[in-house]
Amino acid sequence: MTRTAEVAVFAGLRGPARTFTYRVPEGLDVRIGHLVRAGFGARAVHGVVVALDVPADRELKPLDGLVHPIPLLTGRQLALGRWIAETYRCGLADAVRAMLPPALAARARSGLPAARGERTEPVFGITPAGHEALASGMPRLGARQLVTLRALAAGATTVADVVHAGGTPAAARSLAARGLAIRGTRGVRRVPVEFRLSEADLSRDMPATAPQAAAIAAAIAGMGTGQGFLLHGVTGSGKTEVYLRLTAEALARGLGAIVLVPEIALTAQVVARFVARFGERVALLHSALSAGERYDEWRRVLDGTADVVVGSRSALFAPIENVGLVVVDEEQEPSYKQASAPRYHAVDTALALGRLTGAAVVLGSATPRVVTYAAATTGDLALLELPGRVLDLPLPKTRVVDLRLELKANNRSTLSSALRTALQRTVAKGEQAILYLNRRGFATVVLCRDCGYVVLCPACEIPFALHADGRLVCHRCGREEPRAPATCPRCGSARIRHLGVGTQRVEEDVRAAVPNARIVRLDRDAVKAKGAHAAMYERMRSGQAQVIVGTQMVAKGFDLPGVSLVGVVNADTQLSLPDFTAAERTFELLAQVLGRSGRGTVGGEGILQTYLPDHYAITAAAAHDYATFAEHELRARRRFGYPPYGRLVLLQTSAAREATVERRATELAARLRAAAEDDADVLGPAPAFAAKRAGSYRAQLVLRGDRPTAVLDRVDPGPDWTVDVDPVTLLG
Ligand code: ADP
Ligand code: ZN
Ligand code: ZN
Repeated sequence: MTRTAEVAVFAGLRGPARTFTYRVPEGLDVRIGHLVRAGFGARAVHGVVVALDVPADRELKPLDGLVHPIPLLTGRQLALGRWIAETYRCGLADAVRAMLPPALAARARSGLPAARGERTEPVFGITPAGHEALASGMPRLGARQLVTLRALAAGATTVADVVHAGGTPAAARSLAARGLAIRGTRGVRRVPVEFRLSEADLSRDMPATAPQAAAIAAAIAGMGTGQGFLLHGVTGSGKTEVYLRLTAEALARGLGAIVLVPEIALTAQVVARFVARFGERVALLHSALSAGERYDEWRRVLDGTADVVVGSRSALFAPIENVGLVVVDEEQEPSYKQASAPRYHAVDTALALGRLTGAAVVLGSATPRVVTYAAATTGDLALLELPGRVLDLPLPKTRVVDLRLELKANNRSTLSSALRTALQRTVAKGEQAILYLNRRGFATVVLCRDCGYVVLCPACEIPFALHADGRLVCHRCGREEPRAPATCPRCGSARIRHLGVGTQRVEEDVRAAVPNARIVRLDRDAVKAKGAHAAMYERMRSGQAQVIVGTQMVAKGFDLPGVSLVGVVNADTQLSLPDFTAAERTFELLAQVLGRSGRGTVGGEGILQTYLPDHYAITAAAAHDYATFAEHELRARRRFGYPPYGRLVLLQTSAAREATVERRATELAARLRAAAEDDADVLGPAPAFAAKRAGSYRAQLVLRGDRPTAVLDRVDPGPDWTVDVDPVTLLG
C-alpha cells in the first residue's frame, strides 16, 4: 500500500493556511510531528507532518526526506492544534504554525540548527536507503556499520543508544555519509545569561500557610485528571509560591510544567523565582525575546534539557513530552487572546491541553474574569481560595470622592479637595504617592458633569461613542444621532460634554498643591525614551521622587514600600466604554492600582475620584470586595446574554471605500439573520470601534447566543471577514 502524509507546509502562503498531501517514499520512517522537506511548486519547502495515511485520489509528489530525526510536535500537541482549528475556525496549518517558534522555518535550511553557543551532541536516524540495504540481506557494509545500522533501525538515536547496541558513532557518521542514515545534533543544557536573574529564594523552606497547603493538595490530586482550578487570592497571598511548589511536585513525578505569565517586563519577579528554584530546567519562551533566542529556548525543551517552561501565550505549545501542570498567572489579562489567526484564548486552550494530557490546570488571579469565576462556582473549575496576604499587610482603606460635588463647590482642579489634602499630608510625612489617570475611554462618551449622566443608545443601553465629526454612534447596533444633546436629558444642565484631562494637566495641579515635592510623570510620551520606565521606577524606589503621576504603566508591577497614597483621578472613564468587559476591566485596574498602596510598613490609603460613585465596579473596588463585584457583573451579563450566559463571535471587515464595507456588512447580516435560527442573535452591522484604520473603513457584526459558531457552519462569511470566536473585547 502507498503511504501518504498530510503536511502543514511553511511556504509563506497568504490567506487561510491549508495542508497538502504527499506520498511517503518506501522505507522512510515518517511519524506525526516530523519536520520534513518536500517539493512545493518549483521550490523545496519545509513542513510538519500532521497526519498519516490520509486518502488521496490523485498522483502525489513524494516527500524528500526528514529534516530532523525527532518529531517537533507530539500527537497530543497535534490534537490540541486540531482543537484550536475547530474551536477558533482557522486552518490546521495556521494552528501548527503558531505552535512552532517563528524563526524555525527560516532557520531550518538543511537541518534543524542547534541553539547558538550551546554544546551539542549528534543524533542519528535511518533513511529509506538504509532500510533497503538491510532488507536486501547483503549490504556491503563492515561489521561495525551493520551493527550500527541495525541499531538505528531499532530506534537508536543518540551516541549512547548506538554504543549501547554495540555500534559506534564513527560507523554512524560513515553511514550518514553514504546516505543510509541521517545525522542531526541536539543541544546540551545551558542557561542563557539574560535569565540568570537571581533573587534570594527565601520562602522555599518555609512551611506553607494553611490555605496554601489546601490549594497545593487539591491541585496535586488533580494531576493526571485534567482538572482545572481557579486559584483566587489577592497580590501577596502566596499564589506564586503555590505555583512553585506544584511545579516541584510535577518534576518529582517525572512530569513537566508550563507556566504562562502575561508580560515579561511586569512579571520579572515571578520568572526570577522560577529560575532561582529550578535553574537550568527552566526555559523562557516569551515574545519579548528575539526570534533567535526564543528558538534556542524552544530547542532546549525539544531536546529534553528543560522541562519547566515559563512564557507568554505560545509557551503553551512547548514540546514538553509529559505535561503534569499548566499554570496561567493573571488569567484575566486580555493579552492571553491572540489578535491574529489563530485567534485562540490561552486560558481555554490551556484547559483543552489539560483534558488532552491529564495535566492539572491552575488559573491564578486576584481579579479573575467573571466567566472564570462563574465556572468555579458551577463546578466546571475547582475553586481554591487564598483569603489573606501571607505577611498580613492590610489592604489600603479607600474613599470614593464624588466629582459632581466638587464641581458644585466650584473646584475646577483635577484634584478633589480630599485628594489634595491627602497628598499634602503624605508629602509632609515624607511618604510617597501615586496619582493614576485612566486614559482608556477618554473623550469617547458624552457625560453630564453635574449629574454624571452618560448619553446611551436607547436600544442597547450602552454609551454612544462620540466621533470626531460630532456624531454619536452606537457600536453595537449601528444607530446614529447627528450630534450630542446641548443639555443633559436627566438634569437639564448645560455642562454636558466629553472630558479630556491629560497627565500634564494633573501634574500641574499636583505642583500647585505640593509646590516643594519632587514629581515625576510616567505616560506614553514620557516612556518613549528607552529605559525611562525603569529610571522613573528607580527614582521612586530610591526616594528621589515623592509623587508619580501616570497612566496604566504605574498600575502594574510597581512594588514601592514607601507609597502610602494612591489617588485615582478618574476612576470611571473606562466604565463608559461600550464594551461588555468595561466594568470588569475597571474593577481589575482599580484593584491593581489600589494594591500599589501600603505595601510597606507605613500603611496605606486610596482615593477614587468618580462621577459614578454608586457604580458597583467603583464601590466594590473601594471595598476590596471581589465577590460583590462578580455578583453584580454576572447579573448584568445575564440580562444581555453576554458570557458566560452566551457566547460571542465578532466578525469584522475592512475596505478602502466606505460603501464597500457597508454593502458587505448589510449583505452578510441578512444572510446570518436568515440562517441564525435559535442559535444566536445577530447584532449590527455597526462601524468598528476604530471605524477607520490605516486608511480603511471597518465594520463589524456580532453573533451572540448559545451556539454562535453553529450559524457559521451554515453561512460562510468568506475571505473578506475575520472571525474572532470568544473575543475578549468588541472594540477591536
Ligand atoms: P502572590 O503571587 O499571590 O502575589 P507570593 O507567592 O509572591 O504571592 O507571596 C507573597 C510574599 O510572601 C512573597 O514575598 C513570598 O516569598 C512570601 N511567601 C509566600 N508563601 C510563603 C510562606 N508559606 N511562608 C513565608 N513566606 C511566604
Ligand atoms: Zn445631568
Ligand atoms: Zn444601540
